[in-house]
Amino acid sequence: GYEGILGRQSQRESAARTYARSLPIVPVRARGLTIEGADGRRYLDCLSGAGTLALGHNHPVVLEAVKKVLDSGAPLHVLDLATPVKDAFTSELFATLPGELADDARIQFCGPAGTDAVEAALKLVRTATGRRGLLAFTGAYHGMTAGALAASGGADDVRVTRLPYPQRYRCPFGVGGERGAELSATWTENLLDDPKSGVAAPAGMIVEAVQGEGGVIPAPDDWMRRMRAITADRSIPLVVDEVQTGVGRTGAFWAVEHSGVVPDVMVLSKAIGGSLPLAVIVYRSELDAWEPGAHAGTFRGNQLAMAAGTATLRYVRENKLAERAGTLGARILGRLQGLAAAHPCVGDVRGRGLMIGVEVVDPDAAGPDDSVPPAAPALARAVQQECLARGLIVELGGRHSAVVRLLPPLTLTDEQATAVLDRFADALAAAER
Ligand code: PMP
Repeated sequence: GYEGILGRQSQRESAARTYARSLPIVPVRARGLTIEGADGRRYLDCLSGAGTLALGHNHPVVLEAVKKVLDSGAPLHVLDLATPVKDAFTSELFATLPGELADDARIQFCGPAGTDAVEAALKLVRTATGRRGLLAFTGAYHGMTAGALAASGGADDVRVTRLPYPQRYRCPFGVGGERGAELSATWTENLLDDPKSGVAAPAGMIVEAVQGEGGVIPAPDDWMRRMRAITADRSIPLVVDEVQTGVGRTGAFWAVEHSGVVPDVMVLSKAIGGSLPLAVIVYRSELDAWEPGAHAGTFRGNQLAMAAGTATLRYVRENKLAERAGTLGARILGRLQGLAAAHPCVGDVRGRGLMIGVEVVDPDAAGPDDSVPPAAPALARAVQQECLARGLIVELGGRHSAVVRLLPPLTLTDEQATAVLDRFADALAAAER
């Protein structure tokens, strides 16, 4: 039974298991926003496979696309050979790419995870520039393999220089907003222009336009443009990690489009595979400095994932789901701001499109010199558990795991959004008591 499965799995699975700890659910069926557990309970899923499910669970167009390949007799495993399925995916993806990349990009299939594509991107810019050092940002999350982990600040075996990511709330410079973003840019320029800094000639800069795991922190568009100018002026390839922000999530097809920045390399995964594992990098053709076989891998693109991905990309484009995510996200933020005004434990509400974060704080613990109250991870965990008790799945993120994150599918209806917000408001009130 249900309890038996939970118990056996918790004994057998690695101590590193994550979601299974805070979400004791045994999913057996799912459709759209809804997951049904083995205990017969139904949940509204605002975790969406960590932001993977642009169209929610088991969307009919995705299922159709996968069934079509399965029924066609096409090979499911072809290494990196050309196939009609791959050709359709690449054409659909290229049609969405920003600026010159739509006409002048190369694609490298990596696989199967986001972290593999990050690894490929870092290796590509090192190969193309012949340089080694990398620039990454405080609070970044790029994955769990050595290079990606180092770029996320979690390992020191790859040389990565950390730069301050701009944030309005808890600004590292203590000034917030535009002034904080300006200081971050100046810091970066000074470091790159100081011959004694030792990082004057890095191989590349990797950045998220909205930090997801870092606690849903959108970078200002002006700051993104500054980073583009700073890197372009110094011939440093700019790598933008759109693993979580891509495919309409933030209200534009790609989050870089908000600022008009065209990166040199884009790292793409999660939603591009339409719920199956797929990861690629796309990059300016002049960076294509690989020798044949320089970046290999048995699972460079799964045919079923490509088919599911093609259907997803097309559905998002044809149904203008990016615009929809923008307008619905703004409405949700508005209602959450109302909750913040009524609940002192909500320190900040932020996001872009349907990538939304609510930072939970302890208002009573703020000292006289604190600009904002300290993060309250235990209370955030209580909010998450109260949500779960009301049939709402949300995730926590941020440096202190005190940011409640909402990543609903882009197909969320107005009624569903209201149901999610009603449950969230109840959960917040219950956790506070
Ligand atoms: N980059 C970003 C921005 C991510 O959010 C993630 C996953 N949360 C990754 C990379 C790593 O992807 P994966 O877990 O598939 O390796």
